[in-house]
Amino acid sequence: MNIILLGPPGAGKGTQARRLVEEHGLVQLSTGDMLRAARNSGTEMGRKVADVMARGDLVTDDIVIGLIAEQLDGEAGKHGLIFDGFPRTLAQADALDALLAEKGRALDAVVEMRVDEDALVDRITGRFTCAKCGEVYHDRTKPTAKDGVCDVCGSTEFVRRSDDNEESVRVRLGAYNRQTAPLIGYYHAKGKLRSVDGLGAIDAIAGEIRTRLGL
Ligand code: ADP
Ligand code: ZN
Repeated sequence: MNIILLGPPGAGKGTQARRLVEEHGLVQLSTGDMLRAARNSGTEMGRKVADVMARGDLVTDDIVIGLIAEQLDGEAGKHGLIFDGFPRTLAQADALDALLAEKGRALDAVVEMRVDEDALVDRITGRFTCAKCGEVYHDRTKPTAKDGVCDVCGSTEFVRRSDDNEESVRVRLGAYNRQTAPLIGYYHAKGKLRSVDGLGAIDAIAGEIRTRLGL
């Protein structure tokens, strides 16, 4: 099964993707994670995208399409896939269709996670992640059970994304509304869209996604 998680920044795509990986053996392809890895390891491409990412704008289509193409050619291409944060433009959506078709594969469903904008800013500016296992937390709504210790792996190191500040979040929401939201109609027209309410508890949303995907 190949699916896209679609929704604004902070909608919970990464959290739900992790659940689908653990419970259904799918492989998560997050262009945001790939770009952050490139930026942190200081590759030429990473240096090129750093400013754009910090501002909250989209990096160019050719860069992210290239990253996805590389993954589909590698080990990930042998598994069921969750696209998280990709596609974000109509050009990326067309490119993904073509890349999957080349491999004799197709998209099964697009899960749209709906969350209103005020909740998003609040969620994003409070979030932090375990540096070791990637579990996502929130200062108020999902703190660690024991202060400063990851519930999942026991690590005491956490990271906050440098673009998780209010200014960048507003730019990211603007980019989402202008460039990504048109994909909702695009996938609806193809009969692939499944919308879920992204505002509930993590478990409840995971359950709704499973139901909508027939898992
Ligand atoms: P979020 O969904 O929380 O905004 P991501 O981790 O998906 O964050 O992406 C972080 C940043 O990486 C984006 O703000 C953008 O600059 C860049 N990025 C990620 N995926 C794409 C994409 N498919 N197209 C263009 N830019 C992207
Ligand atoms: Zn951890």
